[in-house]
Amino acid sequence: MLIDTHAHIFLEEFDGDVDAVIQRAIDEGIEKILLPNIDKDSIDDMLQLEEKYPDYCYAMIGLHPCSVKQDFEKQLYIVEEWLSRRSFIAIGEIGTDLYWDKTFWEQQKEAFRFQCELAIKHNIPVVIHCRETIDETIDLVEEFEGTGLKGVFHCFTGSAEQGNQITDLGFYLGIGGVSTFKNGGLDKVIPELNANKLVLETDSPYLSPAPERGKRNEPSKLKFIATRMSEILELSVHEVATLTTKNANDLFFRS
Ligand SMILES: [Zn+2]
Repeated sequence: MLIDTHAHIFLEEFDGDVDAVIQRAIDEGIEKILLPNIDKDSIDDMLQLEEKYPDYCYAMIGLHPCSVKQDFEKQLYIVEEWLSRRSFIAIGEIGTDLYWDKTFWEQQKEAFRFQCELAIKHNIPVVIHCRETIDETIDLVEEFEGTGLKGVFHCFTGSAEQGNQITDLGFYLGIGGVSTFKNGGLDKVIPELNANKLVLETDSPYLSPAPERGKRNEPSKLKFIATRMSEILELSVHEVATLTTKNANDLFFRS
C-alpha cells in the first residue's frame, strides 16, 4: 500500500471525473491521499472532496507561496480561522517561489514564518514548496530549530548535500515524478539520502511521471514513482511501499 502525500485532486483539472480518479487510486493500492491547499478559493472544493472520502482524502490548510500577494495578511487570517475551527492533517502548502514572480519575496517569507508558528502551535507538520529557493528555504526552517517544527520539502529536486541538510533538521523529502525523468538527476541523489525520511507524492495534476510525462497526473500513477524508486534504491517495490508508507504515517498520522 502506498500513500500519495501530495495531490491537488480538488482542482478544476479533475472536475467531472474525480470519482473515477479515486477509484483508480484504490485499485492501484493507494491507501491515503493528502490534499495540500492552495489559497482561500480552493478550500471549499478541497473540503467537499475530503467529506466525500473520509479516512481516504485528508485536507491540509495553508497559503501557497504563489498565492502570496497584496492580500496575504487577509489570506493568513483565513488559515488561522480554519485552524481554530477544526483539525487538519498539516499546514500546506506553504513555502517560497522565485520562479514566476519575485515581487512578493518579503511577504512570502513573512507568510512562511507565520504559518510555521501556526504549525508549532497546533502541533502539525508543514508541507513546503520551494522553487529556485531551496537554500533560502532551508535557512528559514533553520530559524525554527528546537521548536519541534516538522514537515516535508515536497517535490524535492536538490542535491544530496541539500537533501541531507534537510533530513538533519528532522524534515522529510517528498519524491515525485521528477525521479522518473531521464534528465531529472535524482537517480544519483536519492541513494545518498536518508531512506527513513523519504515519502512519495504525485503532485497531481502536475509532474506526471514517465511513461506518462506531459499528461494530467493522478494518484494512481504513484506506482510509476514507486517502481522507479525500487530501481534507484535496489529494493523491491513492496519494500519501497512499506518504507515510504511508514515514513508518511510517522510524519502525518502519529504525531
Ligand atoms: Zn503542490
